Amino acid sequence: MNESPIFSVVKPYFSFSNYVKEKFGVKVGKISIDTNFGCKHKENNKGCTFCNLSSYRGSYIDSSSEATAQWLQGVENYKNSRYQKYYAYFQLGTPLQKDVASHSIKAASEIIKYDDCVGLMFGARSDMTDSSTLEILNDLASKTDKEIWLEMGLQSIHKQTLDFINRGHDYDSFVEKINEISKNYKNIKISVHVIFGLPKASGEIETEEEMLATVRAMSLLPIHAVKYHHLQIVKNTNLALQYKKNPFNTLSEEYYISLMCKVISLTNKNIIIARLIGDSSSSTLIAPIWERRKTILLQSIEKDLKYFSITQGSAFYTN
Ligand code: SF4
Repeated sequence: MNESPIFSVVKPYFSFSNYVKEKFGVKVGKISIDTNFGCKHKENNKGCTFCNLSSYRGSYIDSSSEATAQWLQGVENYKNSRYQKYYAYFQLGTPLQKDVASHSIKAASEIIKYDDCVGLMFGARSDMTDSSTLEILNDLASKTDKEIWLEMGLQSIHKQTLDFINRGHDYDSFVEKINEISKNYKNIKISVHVIFGLPKASGEIETEEEMLATVRAMSLLPIHAVKYHHLQIVKNTNLALQYKKNPFNTLSEEYYISLMCKVISLTNKNIIIARLIGDSSSSTLIAPIWERRKTILLQSIEKDLKYFSITQGSAFYTN
């Protein structure tokens, strides 16, 4: 990790918006590109129980059009927004899975040439990202001098949870892949996804100690960013069926605010916190239904952090 932490005067944590503002000098948005290759884990193994791919799809995406056309449409869509530059965000499914990676990278290589593209972001699974793909991406980042991020799902370090949500890989193999990327592909940046409130057995969710153990372990990994989400049960998922049959507790707003204060205090201060709250579309959301909007919740978290004098990493120790 080369970047030094940049704390905003208002945010008591190392936010992604601060990072890009410092690095690029302007506000940077993300333009979702759907390569329409789907998710191989879903195709082959029924996928993660919580996942409904269409709940992540931006409303402006026409996935039947070419990737470059989607990029141009996205730029047009944001024309009057606060953003001046963008990442091309290949978020949906497994765009780097072996049999489609070359197509995704070809499309991405065209988009990265645009001046207003600061880099690429790819959704990636630790068990579906091989060394030849990493080599190509590492070279592309070097040649273009632009950022290439892999967004790797971890969700939890606990085997019981990973099995129950049908994640399809364990924590040890995930760590092995992170270490391989960090050691051999230094131009690639890694962002890890973690979900709080996951079920670990029928009707039973992870304890707070288990959730915080995931944060402690993740903070020791050689990664650049993390995205924290609260579990959202969305329509047309296996999780929604399980929830209907055998309901389990979901996290309340108040609890989540206090949990995030602990999470931020345990997060290594060198790791960018790129997200604090999940944001599935309300049209697909079953539970939890929270009253406060995301921006209000973020303000509440920041207020509590300041009130309790908590900063990112204030409770993080390496021994
Ligand atoms: S979370 Fe990712 S890996 Fe899991 S089913 Fe959804 S797209 Fe596939």
